[in-house]
Amino acid sequence: MPRLRMIKGVPSLRLRPYLSSPPEPLKPSFRIFKTVPLLRNDRYEALVQRQVVGFVPTMGALHEGHLALIRQAARETDQVYVSIYVNPTQFGVNEDLSSYPQTWPTDYQKLATMEQELSRENTRGRIHAIFLPNTTTMYPGLPPSSEIEGDGSFVTITPLAKKLEGASRPVFFRGVATVVMKMLNIVQPEKIYFGQKDVQQTFVVKRMVRDFHLNTKVIVAPTVREDDGLAMSSRNVYLGARRRRVALVLLNALKAVQEVFARGARKRVYLHKAAMEVLTKVQKQQQALPASQRARFEIDYISIADTETLDELEEVASEHGAIVSGAIKMLPIEEPRPGEELGIGGDASAVRLIDNIRLDLLSAKLDFLT
Ligand code: AMP
Repeated sequence: MPRLRMIKGVPSLRLRPYLSSPPEPLKPSFRIFKTVPLLRNDRYEALVQRQVVGFVPTMGALHEGHLALIRQAARETDQVYVSIYVNPTQFGVNEDLSSYPQTWPTDYQKLATMEQELSRENTRGRIHAIFLPNTTTMYPGLPPSSEIEGDGSFVTITPLAKKLEGASRPVFFRGVATVVMKMLNIVQPEKIYFGQKDVQQTFVVKRMVRDFHLNTKVIVAPTVREDDGLAMSSRNVYLGARRRRVALVLLNALKAVQEVFARGARKRVYLHKAAMEVLTKVQKQQQALPASQRARFEIDYISIADTETLDELEEVASEHGAIVSGAIKMLPIEEPRPGEELGIGGDASAVRLIDNIRLDLLSAKLDFLT
């Protein structure tokens, strides 16, 4: 009789499959909540047990950028709550709400794998719960409006929400502030985690937390990038190979600002010009190519802004630095070639890309000039 069969009280039949095939991945220990009352009960338990809760809000289609936030939250808190909810009120009427990637089965697998990784690393905290609400749960009063004049209970943070991204997407930050306020009221985390990639969002949320005396600490984690430097984003899957190659122009424009700053330029006119030169050069190069080869883009903005207020700067003080951010819109591919690798959606819609870097002498030396 094989030794395993002799384990006291364990029927041999249950052991047999383990002898021939590897065990199934462990079922993750996190709980999944779709409604508020059960999550609240669970959160109350954490409070009673004095567990520190960290919260990572997301819209799903998880990538390494999201996972890095979860990892950091697990190092710094006892219980990590992650939400996945594609919030309709932050999409304008002509934006990509209906096509926004929703990939719950893959997201679940990524979270389960991350949970195992955290367990192996023995981090302070683990993924404790996933909040997966629907829109009736999140907006119980009215169907939410995506119109700027539309009715609803909204949080507005102005003038911050009107600048930069807000100028191109007028309802965006009203939607973000509203949903984050709702999430904060539901989860009541000690710490909430956001990515530097969406820099203006971090400003809006910090301002909201301060102005409404919300009892949470906003933690901002660095932007996670692909190997070539492109900032990871759930929307990158729409790009396709041709636009993906050209998309790097935005980061290159931001790096050009960093380089002239490191060489001593401080006035906005020179810093801004450095970025625009890179962008317009590549724009012209693409324009000159045949339609079957080019990937055209529009420049939305390049901003050189104060690190505290996000106000545009005429001159950057060496000791304060600045936040240099930008947005471009990759236009639809005009003539796909036979067999060409197209993104999800067949490269038929425009894809807006944003990125930012912190301008300071230290990072100038470390990141780009060595
Ligand atoms: P989203 O699902 O796009 O709403 O993003 C959820 C959170 O992940 C936000 O705090 C984002 O700033 C953050 N995030 C998205 N992409 C990245 C990235 N490449 N690096 C770091 N954080 C990111």
